[in-house]
Amino acid sequence: MALLELQNLHVALEDGTEIVKGVDLAVDRNEVHAVMGPNGSGKSTLAYSLMGHPGYQITEGQILFDGEDVTELAADERAQRGLFLAFQYPHAVPGVTVTSFMRSAINAIRKARAGEDDPVPIKDFRTEMLAQMEKLRIPRELAQRYLNDGFSGGEKKRVEILQMAMLKPRIAVLDETDSGLDIDALRVVADGVQDLVGPEMGALVITHYQRILNHITPDFVHVFVDGRIVEEGGPELAHKLEAEGYKPYEEAVA
Ligand code: ADP
Ligand code: MG
Repeated sequence: MALLELQNLHVALEDGTEIVKGVDLAVDRNEVHAVMGPNGSGKSTLAYSLMGHPGYQITEGQILFDGEDVTELAADERAQRGLFLAFQYPHAVPGVTVTSFMRSAINAIRKARAGEDDPVPIKDFRTEMLAQMEKLRIPRELAQRYLNDGFSGGEKKRVEILQMAMLKPRIAVLDETDSGLDIDALRVVADGVQDLVGPEMGALVITHYQRILNHITPDFVHVFVDGRIVEEGGPELAHKLEAEGYKPYEEAVA
């Protein structure tokens, strides 16, 4: 059984409108999956439901993580188990620096795993954080700024990947909504994912655009239209989509 399994997942908005209409997907360690679909197909809704966002109701089916049914678990409980969502903290958090945010997030997970307070030693934390920041080419001064407060799109992305590198999740879900990302930021995301995917981590990259996939080669591509996976294949499918677009699939479901 794969680490993350979605079984016949249906997700509705608060008003009851069904957006995700039965998705089966299995993501394991050492795998990169891409879910690709046109705007409005429900990709972010799928991502939010994986995160446990209260505004998105799972009306049918389930989410299994490491064999455990996590469908009803809150976002923090999912995070403690090793599920990471790149957009989990997209907004600015005035008063909380990047450093203190990062340390709290790590300590919350450590506490949940140990069953008691088990704070990361400051020195270890600092060493690792500086090393990761250097790797991601994040200027040191950013660590002392308030999280996402006045950050550029590229800075937000880097800090998001920094979070992923520091938290060491088992499955990372990235909802690549930002079409405005420059090539440099795109590469940071792609390299960050590529670096971390391995025996300890798998990734689910959700995207409208094929271009991030020029930098990460997905093992599996799932075409997502109108709340459903309508085709699956290997990396070649991403190139086919780039050439032909989503039109043929959209016409087929219309
Ligand atoms: P995608 O990420 O593929 O562009 P979304 O999941 O963002 O698609 O949106 C799918 C559909 O659900 C759209 O019609 C969108 O307007 C609607 N939707 C998503 N979230 C909400 C929300 N919180 N409130 C109202 N409508 C929403
Ligand atoms: Mg979206």
